[in-house]
Amino acid sequence: MIKRILVAGGAGFLGSHLCERLVEDGHDVICLDNFFTSQKSNVEHLLDKSNFELVRHDIVSPILLEVDEIYNLACPAAPGHYQYNPIKTMKISILGSINLLGMAKRCNAKIFQASTSEVYGDPEVHPQPESYRGCVNPIGVRACYDEGKRAAETLFFDYHRMNKTNIRVCRIFNTYGPRMHPFDGRVVSNFIRQALSGEDITIFGDGSQTRSFCYRDDLVEGFIRLMAAPDDVVGPINLGNPGEYSIKELAELTVELVGNNNKLIYQPLPPDDPTRRQPDITLAKKHLDWEPKIPLREGLEKTIAWFKTINPEDYRPPTPNF
Ligand code: NAD
Ligand code: UDP
Repeated sequence: MIKRILVAGGAGFLGSHLCERLVEDGHDVICLDNFFTSQKSNVEHLLDKSNFELVRHDIVSPILLEVDEIYNLACPAAPGHYQYNPIKTMKISILGSINLLGMAKRCNAKIFQASTSEVYGDPEVHPQPESYRGCVNPIGVRACYDEGKRAAETLFFDYHRMNKTNIRVCRIFNTYGPRMHPFDGRVVSNFIRQALSGEDITIFGDGSQTRSFCYRDDLVEGFIRLMAAPDDVVGPINLGNPGEYSIKELAELTVELVGNNNKLIYQPLPPDDPTRRQPDITLAKKHLDWEPKIPLREGLEKTIAWFKTINPEDYRPPTPNF
């Protein structure tokens, strides 16, 4: 069935791929974005499709639209971006979610929240199942994002309990791929950009901290399956690749694949940087029949190939925090 679908944050790294997929599937897609951490070029190729519209809007302000489904991806995601204006970050998660949940309630629309593994903070349980309640520093520099996303989950579940709003909440673990902003400061984009331009690779701390990296196509497939799942599958549900790598291993693999023999250099670890991260995806396998298919080496090769096609100077660093 063709649906009218709103993708908030639809011009971003993940949002633009989701829009592409929904447009291909024949849906009527409204991409809403304030372009804080993205640019129109991410969705330029969709602009001439009759089933795609682009709206510049900030979700902190209400907006009236008539839709069947809403995906809420609007939020700065990279630490340098969300720490640039932490109060605004909190407003986006809380006021933005209230505005979109209000729209879902009014339109009787199904609504999806892009939550995050950051709700687990610096976890004492490894790997992290959805039942783990997390270890977040509520007053640290990452709190605006972590606590904002936690509060957004609370709002989603309260709308679900009070108003029977049809919600879907997924907790995304580090995801990478083509169309990451080259100046977002995230580890994969930093390492590839540095490796390609012959710079030193900046490892924060001793590089023993781990992350689990999911390729964006795998993740978007998980989004679609969660949205299409039976109505009792509301989440929260982890989506990520359980392959766990230290940051030093990621640096070495990137240098090997780019082939420029870059030097690894060590810089101070940012405050509250989680020491390890690995999703337990038992629930996603059970309820969505989903698991990632693209291993890190293959995904990195595709991402490096894309970075070779762009001119980083075409991208505006969104914040001076990069
Ligand atoms: P991104 O920065 O590329 O995308 C976010 C998009 O939201 C951008 O286009 C940005 O301009 C837009 N935006 C920001 N504030 C807005 C506002 N107030 N109103 C309207 N639009 C706004 O990042 P991404 O990696 O594509 O992340 C998308 C979503 O997934 C985010 O909610 C993020 O928290 C979540 N997530 C991503 C990852 C990851 O590894 N990529 C991990 C966990 C969670
Ligand atoms: N990191 C790094 N060098 C960089 C950028 C990031 O060593 O140039 C580290 C960072 O300290 C963290 C990990 O890589 O331990 C992942 O960082 P990212 O900002 O991508 O995402 P996070 O999972 O911390 O939100």
